[in-house]
Amino acid sequence: MATVLEGTKIEEKRLQDLIESAKDIALINGALMRTKEKPGSSAVVNHSPFSLFPSVVPQNLLEKAKGIQKSFNLLMHRVSHDHQFLEQALQNVIKVDDFTRQLWDIYNTVREEGFRQPVSLGLFRNDFMMDTKKIEKNPDCSLSQIGEHAQLKQIEFNTIASSFAGLVGALSDVHRYTIAKSKIKYTKTQLPRNDPAVGLSRGIIKAWQHYGNKNAAILFVVSVPEQNRMDQVWLEKKIVELDHSIDVVYYSLQSLSTNMLLSPDKKLFVNNTEIAVVYYREGYSPNHYPSQKEWDVRLSIERSKAIKCPTVHYQLAGTKKIQQELAKQGAVEKFISDEKEAVKIRSFFAGQYSLDLDPEGDNNAEMAINNPQDYVLKPQREGGGNNHYDDEIKTLLSDLKNNEERAGYILMEKIHPWVQENYLIKVGESSVLRKVVSEIGVYGTILGSAEEVMENEEVGHLMRTKHLGVNEGGVSTGYSCLDTPFLIE
Ligand code: ADP
Ligand code: MG
Repeated sequence: MATVLEGTKIEEKRLQDLIESAKDIALINGALMRTKEKPGSSAVVNHSPFSLFPSVVPQNLLEKAKGIQKSFNLLMHRVSHDHQFLEQALQNVIKVDDFTRQLWDIYNTVREEGFRQPVSLGLFRNDFMMDTKKIEKNPDCSLSQIGEHAQLKQIEFNTIASSFAGLVGALSDVHRYTIAKSKIKYTKTQLPRNDPAVGLSRGIIKAWQHYGNKNAAILFVVSVPEQNRMDQVWLEKKIVELDHSIDVVYYSLQSLSTNMLLSPDKKLFVNNTEIAVVYYREGYSPNHYPSQKEWDVRLSIERSKAIKCPTVHYQLAGTKKIQQELAKQGAVEKFISDEKEAVKIRSFFAGQYSLDLDPEGDNNAEMAINNPQDYVLKPQREGGGNNHYDDEIKTLLSDLKNNEERAGYILMEKIHPWVQENYLIKVGESSVLRKVVSEIGVYGTILGSAEEVMENEEVGHLMRTKHLGVNEGGVSTGYSCLDTPFLIE
């Protein structure tokens, strides 16, 4: 089985020592999370979940994923500015999915009033897995063949609260350490430098500069308490390093309901400080809006002149339903006129199927009920832990027969990611060598309006690795561990 450990034997005592010292290296580098028990306390932190060793990634695949980022940024930017496309794609979802409908209502209200801030900021992350379906019949195929035949397939495109840019930057040094200590031979380029938090921070600063008031601050909208707080602080740290004159303030949607004010000319103020950029790390899940107060805050922010990351239309463009609609023949081509680039974008799409209440949706549901192991059933939710697999698909789709609520879900072909071996280090769990699979994320930034794109960048990558057989993903949800790629030719 392919792994960086191939040909390396580490005896048990050395392995346990290595795990302990790797945890310490993670701590001193800042790959930190607050604890599950005390998420509100900065006095109690621990290392984030991480893989002991980096996972092997064929260099050409990482390059491919990074190489397509700007086109995906542009695609999603254009989708979010196409009212007809959004409306047509989401019409059946908003009939049955309350959360998406609430976002839609805010979008429509602000659209009808006229957007007071034409510019949106996107800090995106495009997630992929290395699909090996094509080579499964040949398990003995060599590493170089995997590079050639494994296919990068998109899992999802995140347009809101794309996390872990800070923590993953801190992990590179941990893996350099564990690789060196295990006497695994490598060249510098196999463990590439990667600091996406710098690129994301630069994106935020570009938006702040565009707003054009040196005294205005950046607002991080965050959950309180938040276990993943340190990842947010990494971004603030990078912002201050790049421009020490900029203030970052943190508020939850709930606390903004008493601290925020929209002036008659639609400037946004929080405790008398004008806000240039609103960066959401909360607001992507129904439980972030426990009452009407939080929705009112969201509407006020959308109405304001502050630059939003993301705007509500960026958020809508990031729904699973839009991803499925984009996979339809001719949809990408509507937004990307360069034919070759559109074909390239398409090559990352896995099969995706509508579950609308029509004959096509009925067929798709039937197909999944008959072979549930081949599909993932996704509701319009973010943040991990929401999808359905195997028998659950059968039960749910059978129950939803002739029920409009089925349109709130999409069906996706199940990817069979490349299996490697690694030790996953999680607080309170022992670590043994087990089969694992990885998800690669590429970060991108974009700043622009319907008429003009001012910035469009690819700014680094993420890897998350989980035990084989665990269906869901997500580091915060406890399924995945942070990881970095070990590149092979
Ligand atoms: P979320 O918004 O909750 O992160 P995702 O679409 O990323 O939703 O799905 C969550 C996790 O489920 C992913 O991180 C991945 O591990 C797994 N997953 C999602 N889609 C697929 C798929 N098509 N094939 C295999 N696994 C998938
Ligand atoms: Mg995801």
